[in-house]
Amino acid sequence: MTIAVIGRGPIGSAAARHLARAGHAVLLIGPAEPADKAAHTGVFASHWDEGRITRALDPDSYWSAVSRASIARYAQIEAESGIGFFTESGAMIAAPAGSDYMRRVADVQAEAGIVAETLRGAELAARFPCFAFPPGIETRFEARGAGHVNPRRMVAAQTEAARRAGAVVVAATALRLETGATGVDVITDAGDFHADRVLVANGGWANTLLPQPLPLAVYARTIAFFALDPDEVAALGDMPTLVYRTPGGDVPYLLPPIRYPDGRMYVKIGGDPDDRPLASTDAVADWFRSGGSADVGAYQRDLIAGLMPGLNTARMHTEACVTVFTPEDRPAIRRLDARMSVAVAGCGRGAKCADELGRIAAGVVTA
Ligand SMILES: Cc1cc2nc3c(=O)[nH]c(=O)nc-3n(C[C@H](O)[C@H](O)[C@H](O)COP(=O)(O)OP(=O)(O)OC[C@H]3O[C@@H](n4cnc5c(N)ncnc54)[C@H](O)[C@@H]3O)c2cc1C
Repeated sequence: MTIAVIGRGPIGSAAARHLARAGHAVLLIGPAEPADKAAHTGVFASHWDEGRITRALDPDSYWSAVSRASIARYAQIEAESGIGFFTESGAMIAAPAGSDYMRRVADVQAEAGIVAETLRGAELAARFPCFAFPPGIETRFEARGAGHVNPRRMVAAQTEAARRAGAVVVAATALRLETGATGVDVITDAGDFHADRVLVANGGWANTLLPQPLPLAVYARTIAFFALDPDEVAALGDMPTLVYRTPGGDVPYLLPPIRYPDGRMYVKIGGDPDDRPLASTDAVADWFRSGGSADVGAYQRDLIAGLMPGLNTARMHTEACVTVFTPEDRPAIRRLDARMSVAVAGCGRGAKCADELGRIAAGVVTA
């Protein structure tokens, strides 16, 4: 059976690897990342970055389970492709002690037997002097099997592993899908392709290809980056990733120093104070080209200045991204008809667990 996977992102590339390893003829169709995003007029992606947090702990047992299944296969994917993408920096979750959020994290930890230390007060300050939490904050720290993945390299690894398993990689953007008696024609900007079945896995652009739109919410996200000098990088040598439920109810997240394609090391903070939906694909593309919101960037700068008082926040820039949600806060992975399936909506955390979401999608499209 020939299966066309539309979208060469974390989920689509993972599905392609699983399908190719299962012996199917796979076409993995998606464009390369543009060199100049501000001038780009095509589709964008939610993974064009160097860092995504990965961890087993989560307040939601579903997201913990799919993340653990994926993390368990990182080494295999790296070996199959020859491309590394995982950095075991450790991952921390912080929240007010006794809060509902921390209770849910603790429940998932207990249910799944996740190894994580509980740190608070003077012990927390001594172990992680880079952070200055207010009183009353409790943390869970996962030292092993957690940290960050490089999503660009993860997609490259999945794509290469899929290719080595026989998948054909097509650098093209799908313009429309035409279902007929013998299969699906995928009309792209680089020619037409025919497949028995198709898996639509193109993130925030899914509804441009689907016959009936799914109820997907695409939210504007701003990320603030802080450039570091070498001595600052050295001082942050043991900084883990951090997801922090603040006493005020916001959930910023931080990544430790990571090198970017411009050669510089950056700490970054994400987590918007509000969910701002983008109503159309034109609005999504405009948002990506905008480079993010100055107001959200200022909010993030204030947050990180309070949380990491030693950090020099002078050299800051923002970037734009989007997250795609379903009303159920679960990915949309399902069969739409005899020939077409869909696997989209990472719900803001679909990079770390993409291999498991791709594996599930591969099962759905071939069922
Ligand atoms: C700021 C930010 C921070 C995040 N932090 C984390 C984190 O710390 N941890 C975590 O696990 N997740 C995180 N996420 C979420 C994660 O990045 C996404 O869930 C993940 O990228 C979703 O993967 P995807 O394959 O569904 O979509 P995408 O990454 O958007 O990939 C879809 C692909 O489809 C392609 N495409 C689009 N249209 C077409 C078309 N017509 N034809 C062919 N190809 C097409 C695109 O070019 C793209 O390559 C974050 C997201 C954002 C925005």
